Amino acid sequence: MSQVTAIALFSGGLDSILACRVIMAQGIRVVALKFVTPFFDHHLLAREDAYRADIRRKYGIGVRLVDLSNGYVELVANPPHGYGKHFNPCIDCKIFMLRRARAIMAEQGASFLVSGEVLGQRPMSQRLDTLRLIERESGCAGILLRPLCARRLPATEPELAGLVQRTGLHAMSGRGRKGQIQLAAQFGISEYPSPAGGCMLTDPNLGSRIAGLYQEREQVAGSAPRPSDIRLLLVGRQFRLPGSHWFVLGRNEGENEQIAALANEDDWLLTMVTRPGPTGLLRRARQPSAGSPGEEELAALAAGLVVRYGRKVGGRRGAADVLLIRDGEQCTLTAAPLSDETFANWLR
Ligand code: SF4
Repeated sequence: MSQVTAIALFSGGLDSILACRVIMAQGIRVVALKFVTPFFDHHLLAREDAYRADIRRKYGIGVRLVDLSNGYVELVANPPHGYGKHFNPCIDCKIFMLRRARAIMAEQGASFLVSGEVLGQRPMSQRLDTLRLIERESGCAGILLRPLCARRLPATEPELAGLVQRTGLHAMSGRGRKGQIQLAAQFGISEYPSPAGGCMLTDPNLGSRIAGLYQEREQVAGSAPRPSDIRLLLVGRQFRLPGSHWFVLGRNEGENEQIAALANEDDWLLTMVTRPGPTGLLRRARQPSAGSPGEEELAALAAGLVVRYGRKVGGRRGAADVLLIRDGEQCTLTAAPLSDETFANWLR
């Protein structure tokens, strides 16, 4: 008989690690999916092989990354079940992930899905009625097994079919971590991430910054932000120039590289020519607001900001040359540093 396969939703937190291991301990092959979006764990895509090797080495789990950006970014604009405390659409996020996992389950010929949820652990998304709603709306009723709290829930199809022994599952509930820590010790797992999640949508500051971008993109561009907009929002110093044009400056070499890599064809890129300084990216509003500066004035303002944050010479900031790339063409501007009073209201 061929080996039974399950698809697991793998956040990388202890609960998801344990959920995989509980199922693997029953001789079932587990393919773990680590979903990424611009709001969480996107940086892993750049080092996928190392990440997979690390998870395999630490926990013996085979994981693959799945980029959910397209579709997810639009979902965040208007989630049918609303937001949590901040800009986090947890219920719809889980439904979205489960739908994708169900599609992958079919592709892989897997028999069921696994998640590390624990009944009552989170106020909104892990109440019994919410767990049920998420299962129903994702089309996963009966095929989603939650090994850490399964014995507090009705038996799922893989249990009823004898693919999984219910006696090997657990009955955890609530916010305490004691049961998980004991189980981790049984599996010989001592190194695991802290429970605090890495989702920026649940962060009060980042969440409201992201919410602001959604509002602004709706007004300025008439649509939800693109995935690259979100990634750009989460890097560097952010400015809103007159006319609602969006400008971002790197704060270090790493951010300069990220910003350059995020440039779209219609963005402007600015760099200092003769001395070190930040990379600037200007993403122009499609419908500039009233009083928007003309192209040359806008270029001068952006270059003035680049010079303002560029390296000083002899303790002073002086004028400097800035290379501007726009519409595939390059030109050099000489710009004086903008005064702090000029741009104080542009910082966002
Ligand atoms: S915290 Fe973020 S990743 Fe987790 S369910 Fe909520 S929105 Fe999704």
